[in-house]
Amino acid sequence: MMSISNRLLSNVLLPKCSKCIANSVVSKRQLNLQEYQSKSLMREFKLNVQPFHVADSVKEVERICKIFPCDEYVVKAMILAGGRGKGTFKENGFKGGVKLTTDTTEVVNLAEKMIGNHLVTHQTTSTGVVVKKVMIAESYRIVKEAYFAIVMDREAGGPVLVGSSQGGVDIEEVAAATPDAIFKVPVDVTQGITLDQAMEAANQLGLDTSKQVAEAADQIQKLFHLFSRVDATQVEINPFGLTDKGRVVMFDAKINFDDNAEFRQKEIFALDDKSLTDAKEVAAQDAKLNYISMDGNIACVVNGAGLAMATMDIIKLHGGEPANFLDVGGSVTEQQVLEAFKIMSMDGKVKTIFINIFAGIVDSVVVAKGLIESANKLGLDLPLVVRLVGRNADEAMEILGNSGLNIISAQELDNAAQQAVQAAQTL
Ligand code: GDP
Ligand code: MG
Repeated sequence: MMSISNRLLSNVLLPKCSKCIANSVVSKRQLNLQEYQSKSLMREFKLNVQPFHVADSVKEVERICKIFPCDEYVVKAMILAGGRGKGTFKENGFKGGVKLTTDTTEVVNLAEKMIGNHLVTHQTTSTGVVVKKVMIAESYRIVKEAYFAIVMDREAGGPVLVGSSQGGVDIEEVAAATPDAIFKVPVDVTQGITLDQAMEAANQLGLDTSKQVAEAADQIQKLFHLFSRVDATQVEINPFGLTDKGRVVMFDAKINFDDNAEFRQKEIFALDDKSLTDAKEVAAQDAKLNYISMDGNIACVVNGAGLAMATMDIIKLHGGEPANFLDVGGSVTEQQVLEAFKIMSMDGKVKTIFINIFAGIVDSVVVAKGLIESANKLGLDLPLVVRLVGRNADEAMEILGNSGLNIISAQELDNAAQQAVQAAQTL
């Protein structure tokens, strides 16, 4: 289970993993598009998606209702996080970022409750994500919700088809409670998908007739084609649904792209709307730092993903809450320390900064100088709990001690974490 190293892990294969951390550990940011953008792409590849329009204002929704007659509509909040169906809007307490209605007046009402408000789901922080756009799609009756994804799997050394007949909004619970309900079919990356492999997957989706299975297999092949052509690292379709008319339809879609392929996927990367991503995450991406914002008040600056995970764990163990996951990389530079500090200073909820650097390749003195320069430049007066271990650590700690900054130094990880938690609590 743990070997499929991709963002999908955060949804299905590592359901308990906190907010996509697994993804950060194994890879860089990976471009993620909004559902409507993914579905437009899918339409080009002849995948079955519902007809839809997108609006960024209530006025636009009213206009769409006039030109887009449907027996039933589904109104969907466009955010870069899953679990919208079970989400809640922060400002008005309205429940559900995916809503069905037969009435156009209600479509407008629903859009009004969504646009401009923050949707909180199990994949967002408690602040939620502001909804700038809604999708108005023709709703189909769903008689069966399966799950289907294609991900890059480190163990298999290539793409793997992953699926379950038990898809839908509770897929995380299915994956946790009955991992056997999830199947995997590896595909040879040099050969591409075969009809047999597509059929093997389609047969396990719990469909009723051979015609449906054949359509699913055809869709799976087309989806694989898309996956390879756009340099995706993951496509996730949940639900991969069967309609009351016996059609196989991709009701929800999430596609992640390989950042290393940006040079040959310029059109796709141009779709990246950075205004929808946390400003801190955008800054981190530009500085090539691995950063994810979280709910707590202890900012962490750590080198190495493993140490970053351990640092967050130990903060929690001592009753604190990390404000972020930030991995400055194995060979951290002074400039990166400065960028990391800038990101920390953008985060109003931070009470303490915990620097935990293991100096192997890097020189602790470089890090210490970077810290002092950054703190002075940015005028940071938060307590800094610093643990520097490894190359020239003693000299570095001495430089920090003489810097006049509010520094609490600690040598041992457990003690350092305790100090950070204490510092955050006493402010
Ligand atoms: P998510 O909650 O962010 O994963 O958003 P989804 O697009 O997957 O929608 C959540 C749930 O709403 C799905 O699992 C379906 O049960 C339901 N849903 C979504 N679109 C439709 C639709 O067109 N018709 C019907 N009947 N249900 C839908
Ligand atoms: Mg879904």
